[in-house]
Amino acid sequence: MWVRGPVARLKLRAMPAVALPRIDEPRCTGCGRCVAACPPQVIWLQATGPRGWGPKRAEVHDMPGCTGCARCALACPFGVIRMEKVVAPEALPGEPLAPNDPPPVK
Ligand code: SF4
Ligand code: SF4
Repeated sequence: MWVRGPVARLKLRAMPAVALPRIDEPRCTGCGRCVAACPPQVIWLQATGPRGWGPKRAEVHDMPGCTGCARCALACPFGVIRMEKVVAPEALPGEPLAPNDPPPVK
């Protein structure tokens, strides 16, 4: 059985994603297919206007909860989501990441 939602986020958060989704928001139609395809439900549709009005666009609201499964990218009929390889934090110069920071992408 495929685990979805908060349970999936808890179970999979410890797994480091090797790639993370990058959404080209101006090209997003707000169709919601990526939202339906995401097992841990870390993508939602966000209104672009004030007070919840305006066209909706897909947004990853919990990047640390993303497993990098790429189902969102595969589900998008318009090729709006691209998976980007994660750079290992130890390979980056500067301050180390806080525990809840999303991994950097290149
Ligand atoms: S890659 Fe996409 S579908 Fe998979 S967990 Fe991350 S946001 Fe969800
Ligand atoms: S499937 Fe693609 S076009 Fe549809 S909401 Fe997601 S990113 Fe936007």
